[in-house]
Amino acid sequence: MSSKVYFSNLRSRSEKDNKGNKLINLFNKANFTDLYNENELIGVKIHFGERGNDAYISPTLIRYIIDEIKKTGANPFLTDTNTLYFGLRHNSVDHLKTATLNGFSYSVVGVPLIIADGLNSEHEALVEINQKHVKTAKIGGDIFNADGLLVASHFKGHTLSGFGGAIKNLSMGCATINGKLEQHEAAKPIMQDECNNCGICEGVCPVNAIFHNENPKKYFINYDKCVVCMDCKSACPNESIDLNWEEEIPKFIERMGEYALGAVKNKQDKIAYINFLTDITPHCDCFPFSDAPIVPDIGFLASNDAVAIDAASLYLVNQQKGIKDTLIHKNCNHGEDKFKGVWENVDGNHLLNYCQDIGLGSIDFEIIEI
Ligand code: SF4
Ligand code: SF4
Repeated sequence: MSSKVYFSNLRSRSEKDNKGNKLINLFNKANFTDLYNENELIGVKIHFGERGNDAYISPTLIRYIIDEIKKTGANPFLTDTNTLYFGLRHNSVDHLKTATLNGFSYSVVGVPLIIADGLNSEHEALVEINQKHVKTAKIGGDIFNADGLLVASHFKGHTLSGFGGAIKNLSMGCATINGKLEQHEAAKPIMQDECNNCGICEGVCPVNAIFHNENPKKYFINYDKCVVCMDCKSACPNESIDLNWEEEIPKFIERMGEYALGAVKNKQDKIAYINFLTDITPHCDCFPFSDAPIVPDIGFLASNDAVAIDAASLYLVNQQKGIKDTLIHKNCNHGEDKFKGVWENVDGNHLLNYCQDIGLGSIDFEIIEI
């Protein structure tokens, strides 16, 4: 049976259908009011955006959703977990500073911000899932402890999974740093022969995992130390650090699916999903910049099914005509896979199919436009 996905486009002709009212409408049409009860602590899982990024979900728009949750009598809070990479959201102090600078202050959003995995990601819930790759998922403690979740996701491209939406917000987004590392372990950097020995990667590695031999000079990665942050890959001017796209990236994608299962395990009937199909950039919001979008803005989607809402989002993106300048590999026509047009080595459909196979949700969706 197909899962319902409610859709609101962005056309607006009066105050009645401004973006805030569209979100309120979606929330109610999708019956999210029935999910939450008086005094329940409801985590609104969001990505606060890296500093310098501006494509993340607007704090003024998330306020409309938070106010709808409050009307149920529940007690919502905004939440995210610390990052694996060493940016400005790697510990709770930096993370909260970045969130505030990006506009998520109490006066704007009307609720507290709680970094779910604690100061240095030590607040961890172990969730048994017994899947192919992951036996025990490591989930941010306060996400696990919340009575329910509303997962608000910016739908956009992603280097390793093709696209990022609700599933990625659950899997990478709800995992502790240890959990993120467990997922990324399947996507380790590989030093290529074309390396010109400039040494830049050795300088940027935050854990001194890169070293070199003299005579002849050659660079290596110590995988016992590597935390798979990919800073070296981003910094290499020679594109000499790559990944095993064919064998390892599909495993990384499968681990993501399994972690998403871990994040929802103790609250299956208490989760709502809203995807924002706006500013659909090639990269995710962890980057300290936002490229031009690959397709025009589309709208907002709401569902109770994480797989269906991402499948519907992907379908709607692919129905657009792509913007040539940001689609490096030029999948610009109606119906073409736009994210393959950017990240040609990754098949995002593998994530959807795998998540359906392990019981996270259904790739069979019915879009109901409101
Ligand atoms: S080797 Fe590269 S991916 Fe690994 S920790 Fe160092 S910079 Fe990060
Ligand atoms: S940055 Fe790139 S080219 Fe320079 S040493 Fe590292 S791998 Fe080689």
